[in-house]
Amino acid sequence: MSSQCLFCRIVAGEIPSTRVYEDDQVIAFRDISPAAPQHILLIPRRHIQSVAALEVEDAALMGHLMLQARHIAEQEGFADTGFRSVLNTGDEGGQTVGHLHLHLLAGRQMHWPPG
Ligand code: AMP
Ligand code: ZN
Repeated sequence: MSSQCLFCRIVAGEIPSTRVYEDDQVIAFRDISPAAPQHILLIPRRHIQSVAALEVEDAALMGHLMLQARHIAEQEGFADTGFRSVLNTGDEGGQTVGHLHLHLLAGRQMHWPPG
């Protein structure tokens, strides 16, 4: 837990969020500034800076996180229509919050390449 980290503070409940899923390893909540009709952030409870900071020991946690992405897509009703999963990493990757988070975006047609 980093007291400086926005998402660690959301995990701790110090900053409110609209949670859509949680378990002992991950939590998911609605993005405060949605870029699609549905925009959910799925994060590990434990502070990991980004994909660039992942260690071998994080493999099971990241596998769990991806499986819960599937679960949330089913729960929220966009598993069949489709969705975009995004992990922004570092400055040029567009990462603004330094706690690893998987964006789940759904409810509109996505385009490629992203901006
Ligand atoms: P990124 O730019 O990939 O680091 O994504 C960070 C995301 O966090 C953005 O989509 C923000 O809208 C979102 N965000 C920032 N603060 C909050 C907050 N307090 N609650 C929910 N989402 C947030
Ligand atoms: Zn954190």
